[in-house]
Amino acid sequence: MREPNEGDKLLDLFLLRTKEPDYAVDMPYYTTGSIVAAALIRVAILGGTSMILTQFVSANTVWWFAMLTLWGIGVLPAWLQYQRFHEKVEKMIAGTLCGACKHFNPTNQLCMVLDEHVTSEHPPCEAEAWEPR
Ligand code: SF4
Repeated sequence: MREPNEGDKLLDLFLLRTKEPDYAVDMPYYTTGSIVAAALIRVAILGGTSMILTQFVSANTVWWFAMLTLWGIGVLPAWLQYQRFHEKVEKMIAGTLCGACKHFNPTNQLCMVLDEHVTSEHPPCEAEAWEPR
């Protein structure tokens, strides 16, 4: 497994990916919390940038900048990421032992018994704590 470089870390900080990187194997890359938090950070930065821009360019230009960047950088990546997160959880529910366990929390891919993220087909509890839904 490769380690993330500086560029990867910057992309991860603002969650500007629409696909999980190859080094995200031991934890779910997307969770609802990380998607919403990163989207809020991006929107706040874009809002601040728009306010600064009002000092230098026309209001019309700022309005277009704000609308296009809020959609393209703020909202659209979050929506695409949520789609990927949802697809992954659906696959886990349909195809893994943890997905069929009553202790699996699909909103954050967490095993509530072990308080551990479930990322593969292999249950971290070795199926000892498995209970049907
Ligand atoms: S108790 Fe075991 S089988 Fe159930 S979600 Fe946790 S790790 Fe998976």
